[in-house]
Order: sequence, then C-alpha cells, then structure tokens
Amino acid sequence: MPSTRFTYAPAPESRSVVSLRPAYGLFVDGEFVEPRDGSMFTTASPSSEEVLAEVAAAGPGDVDRAVAAAARAQRDTWGPMPGKERAKYLFRIARLMQERSRELAVLESMDNGKPIREARDVDVPLAAAHFFYYAGWADKLAYAGLGPSPRPIGVAGQVVPWNFPLLMAAWKLAPALAAGNTCVLKPAETTPLTALLLAEIVQQAELPPGVVNVVTGAGDTGAALVAHPAVDKVAFTGSTEVGKAIQRSLAGTGKRLTLELGGKAANIVFDDAPLSQAVEGIVNGIFFNQGHVCCAGSRLLVQESIADAVVDALKLRLETLRLGDPLDKNTDIGAINSPGQLAKIEELASSGEAEGATRWSPSCPVPERGYWFRPTIFTGVAPAFRIAREEIFGPVLSVLTFRTPDEAVVKANNTTYGLSAGVWTEKGSRILWMAQHLRAGVVWANTFNRFDPTSPFGGYRESGFGREGGRHGLEAYLDV
Ligand code: NDP
Repeated sequence: MPSTRFTYAPAPESRSVVSLRPAYGLFVDGEFVEPRDGSMFTTASPSSEEVLAEVAAAGPGDVDRAVAAAARAQRDTWGPMPGKERAKYLFRIARLMQERSRELAVLESMDNGKPIREARDVDVPLAAAHFFYYAGWADKLAYAGLGPSPRPIGVAGQVVPWNFPLLMAAWKLAPALAAGNTCVLKPAETTPLTALLLAEIVQQAELPPGVVNVVTGAGDTGAALVAHPAVDKVAFTGSTEVGKAIQRSLAGTGKRLTLELGGKAANIVFDDAPLSQAVEGIVNGIFFNQGHVCCAGSRLLVQESIADAVVDALKLRLETLRLGDPLDKNTDIGAINSPGQLAKIEELASSGEAEGATRWSPSCPVPERGYWFRPTIFTGVAPAFRIAREEIFGPVLSVLTFRTPDEAVVKANNTTYGLSAGVWTEKGSRILWMAQHLRAGVVWANTFNRFDPTSPFGGYRESGFGREGGRHGLEAYLDV
C-alpha cells in the first residue's frame, strides 16, 4: 500500500516550562517531606528512557502520617467548613490548573509517554473541568437527590493508575473534597510527577494542611493505604486482579469501596453507519493514549457485509498516523508507559498470531530508544482467542464480524467485563435497542471515548462497581 504520510517538520513542545526537581518528597499535612520509613525510586521518560527525577516511596509509617493528617484535617477544618467555603478552594484549584495547564501537559507527556496533543487537549482540561464541576456541588449537596442532610464519610484512600495520572487524580479528589472528605492519594509508580505538581497547586491554593496528601510509591504503598484502619473509604482504579485483592482485604471492615477496573469494550459498526466517521471513531476508540484506556474499544464488531471495506479504510487511515516523540505536536501515537506493559502487549499479540489470527501494522518507523508498539489490527479473530477476551491495554484491535443486531449483542456481551461499548448506525431506534441490551456502564452512539464531568462513568461485573462523575459520583463520598 503506498504511504499517504506527509512529511512534517518536527514541532516539539518546549520542556522549558517544566522545572523538574532532582528529587521529590511526599506531600503530607501541607508540606513536602522526606520519607521516614520509606526509600527513593526513579521515574523515567518512556519515550527516551531518561531518568526524570527521584521520588519518595512511602513506607507504612509514612502512610500512617498522611492518614493521621487527613483525619485531623477532616475533623477540625475541612469537615466542619461550610460547603460554600470548600467550593472556593476547589474553584481556585481549577483556575490554577488552567493557568499552569501547559506545565501540567508537558510534564504528563514526559512522565507517561502520551502525545502532548492529548495531554494538552484532553487530560488537563478535563481534570480542571472536574474541579470546576464539583466545586459547584459543594454547597448544594442537600439537593443532589441523596437525602436531605448528606454527610462526608471521612478519610478517602485513593489509588490511581498510570494511564491518565492527572485526570484520575482529579476524578478522585474533586468529588471527595466537594463532599467534605479529606484525601490520601497514591499515584502509580511509573507516573508520579503530575500528582506531585497537583500537590504544589494545592499548596498554592492554600488548602488547609492535611486536606490533600500524596503518598508516592509502588503497590506496597497502595496496599498499606487501603488497609489503614483510619481510612473510611477506598477508591481504586486499576487492574481487575488488584481490585479483587483490595475487595477481599476490605471484606468485613465496613470501609466503603468503589472499584473502576478493566474492560474489553465492543465497538459495533452497522452497515448503515457513516463509514469515514466510524473509522475515525474506531481509531479514537483503540489508539487514543496508545490503547492504555480501560474503556478502549479493543473489539471491533463490524457487520459482515461491510467488514472488508471497513478494514481497508482503517488500514489506509493507520498509514497516516505518526508514532514518535510524545512532545511533538504532530504525534498521534506516543510511547508505551513501561517495559513491563510493553512485554505484556507483545506477549498477547504473539498469542493472537499463534491462535491463528492475521496480524497487520502500518509501516511507520519506530524510534530506537524507549518503549514502542506499532498500532496493530488482528483480523480472522474468533471470540475464544485470548486477544478477544483479555484486556491488552495497548494499541491492538481485534476485528470480529456479525450478521444481525442480536448476534452483535451476544458477541459484545460475551465478556467478563462490562465497562463501555460503542454503536455506529444511522438508525436512532437501533441505538436505543442496542443500549438497552448491551451490558456496559457506558454506551456511546456514533462517538467513542467521550468524557464529561457531568456524566457518570463506571462498570458492571469484573469492570468494578460505583460511579465516578456527575451527581452519581458524589454518592460514593457521602453518608446519606
Ligand atoms: P495495577 O492495578 O497494579 O495498578 C493500579 C494502581 O494500584 C497503581 O497505583 C499500583 O501501584 C497500585 N497497586 C498495585 N498493587 C496494589 C495493592 N495490592 N494494593 C493497593 N494498590 C496497589 O495495574 P498495573 O499498573 O500493574 O497494570 C497491570 C495491568 O492492569 C495492565 O496491563 C492493564 O491491563 C491493567 N490496568 C487497567 C487499568 C484500568 O483503568 N482498567 C489501569 C491500569 C492497569 P504501582 O503502580 O505503584 O504498582
């Protein structure tokens, strides 16, 4: 196939807006502090393997200090504070995030490997929008339809993954704070830097000490946080495996829990769908953020009569995607976040070939340093293949076909997950019928991966439980 890629001059975003510190402490009780019983680890750029900074790994004693600070702040300042006063702080954080948006976006792109275009246009504005949105709720909790006098739960222990580090932090912190809880946040080991920059913003917004605490570290730190007896509510986003372990460990403790876990979403294209629009939706569904998206449309279900045409159009479109330097504004596909994640994607892609699917990738060059995986399509996929069942969490699309709407529903629901789905068709009645029959927390119609702070998000079955976003997102942080 002839290449349809233009030659673009590089357009790198400057790193000068970010002032990296050589080492970062923990953010506890309003200050950056050295770990007492922890150690230090490094965080590196996945696109260049350059070490960006040393970061503290909180030990159990450090977690204890952070939880104690949060409990004090909840009891003495944040809990008793009128909602309209809490709102002012949240609005201030949102505005500061907007003011420092370029810095946040560049740092996110450096630490995570995602294209600057996405960090700049999606992660950071959406994160600020969550603070704006929940600031508006802080003095209206009694009118949220959750009872006449809802009360905060107490201290929230919040553990987030590496795919949307800042955005996930905002999803967790904003509703919790609006509802009068205080927070201890544990960012992922490979992407701690924007949570620490957010901690600087919290300082700049002059939040009372202890209201927000950030304890960096690996899985041990997360485990110590969720197990801490003074944590009243746990909110976790990450793998289904760790989510299940957390649920087991909390059984019988009376702690409140919400889990936002994995997915294996079906993106369903009917023969009357606007083809070019659907192809853009498929690309956005699976190649956005290198496919490191829990609700990624990783299973394309396409009606048999148009399957060849869709796959041909998709291949043509993938030939135009640019893979490379995440800080280049032309880049569509950035780096894979870690060598471990790259190995997982490679192993699952190999299993697809071994089980008999046909593998295809565009001819784009791959940089020598860093962790990269070309966008990949598998055709000839049977529902029993691992690539049709397991969450790959990478830029890999499995194409399956169907003949009737009933068959599409059966195949789409043939998964242990239930987070999201997409439907592409011109027929409104079919959209409604599909949405009623698909077992997924979110069903997008003629679009995909569209997020809004006013809209609840969450899953069924092994995708977890509880809703984040919207009025529903407050419920997880209130005693009603
Ligand atoms: P994890 O579920 O291990 O990580 C998510 C967060 O939980 C991280 O902050 C992690 O810390 C922390 N954590 C790890 N173990 C524990 C524990 N026992 N108790 C409390 N917190 C813990 O995901 P991984 O990063 O290891 O990714 C593995 C796979 O999970 C991916 O390949 C992908 O398939 C899936 N995944 C799905 C996500 C989703 O949103 N659906 C998000 C991330 C991953 P640390 O990073 O420091 O180890």
